[in-house]
Amino acid sequence: MIKYALGCAAGHAFESWFPDSAAYEKQRKRGLIACPECASTEVDKAIMAPAVVGFDRAGPPALAGPLLDEKRREVRAMIADMRREIEANTDDVGANFPAVARAIHAGDEPERAIRGQASREEARALIEEGVGVLPIPALADDMN
Ligand SMILES: [Zn+2]
Repeated sequence: MIKYALGCAAGHAFESWFPDSAAYEKQRKRGLIACPECASTEVDKAIMAPAVVGFDRAGPPALAGPLLDEKRREVRAMIADMRREIEANTDDVGANFPAVARAIHAGDEPERAIRGQASREEARALIEEGVGVLPIPALADDMN
């Protein structure tokens, strides 16, 4: 079994187990892997690179409100754990995230794990350029 950190087209991050990488590819191509947050089947591996990114307030809606059922609480706890882990192990470059991530990708800056803010469009552009980023949905607590 292999665990992958995945992300959907809307920027939700989640994890899933697969028998092996070939099974993951097969399931993904058949649209059998759906985002637990929005059910999108447009998913891809979200991590494998040191760079991470958090969405700013223009990003996806927070996990909150009356829909906070058991599943959402689990997802929320997972994301909170992930955020704590990331905050302990990365440099906060704030709004410079896209520029610094590109510089690291190009080899102009020393390779290191960073975090910061980027708009959805910026995050998507970075992913398309092959810069590894892990979109992390904002939690409701951050909005208060
Ligand atoms: Zn989603």
